[in-house]
Amino acid sequence: MKQYELHTIDSEETAHFAGKLAGLLKPGDVIALEGDLGAGKTTFTKGLAIGLEIKKTVNSPTFTIIKEYHGRLPLYHMDVYRVEDAFEDLGFDEYFEGEGVTVVEWAHLIEEQLPAERLTIFLYHEGEEKRKMVLVPQGERYEQLCKELFS
Ligand code: ADP
Ligand code: MG
Repeated sequence: MKQYELHTIDSEETAHFAGKLAGLLKPGDVIALEGDLGAGKTTFTKGLAIGLEIKKTVNSPTFTIIKEYHGRLPLYHMDVYRVEDAFEDLGFDEYFEGEGVTVVEWAHLIEEQLPAERLTIFLYHEGEEKRKMVLVPQGERYEQLCKELFS
């Protein structure tokens, strides 16, 4: 499976890359974010929101699990860290199949509920402000998206 790797030197660069991705997103796209606490999942989402022309500041939705924002497209921002049961149905499907873009932090915790086709992005600490990002597209739509993003 083709993977794409890049390195960022600070949070601005991570957010900027997410903003570039945002420009290519379409309704129904699903982005799964994986990485330790502080890896940059929310920072990435903030950049993506700016790229979607969302005016409100995106904050970590830890306590609400799902937050919805409105820009060029709706953004459904999920942080499933506190979901207690991987099969708990919080109506995720309606978001995945909705008119917006879904971003899921800690996505593997609801693996069984995720759509098979998605773009997974792994973030790794490489130092105080350095991060490695690995993009893994699953499905034709996301393979094309990555090709365009890295062309
Ligand atoms: P997560 O949502 O994965 O727990 P956050 O985005 O909330 O992570 O936090 C990441 C923290 O690391 C922020 O304080 C951010 O400013 C900082 N940071 C430093 N360098 C980077 C980078 N290259 N990419 C993303 N965040 C970075
Ligand atoms: Mg977070």
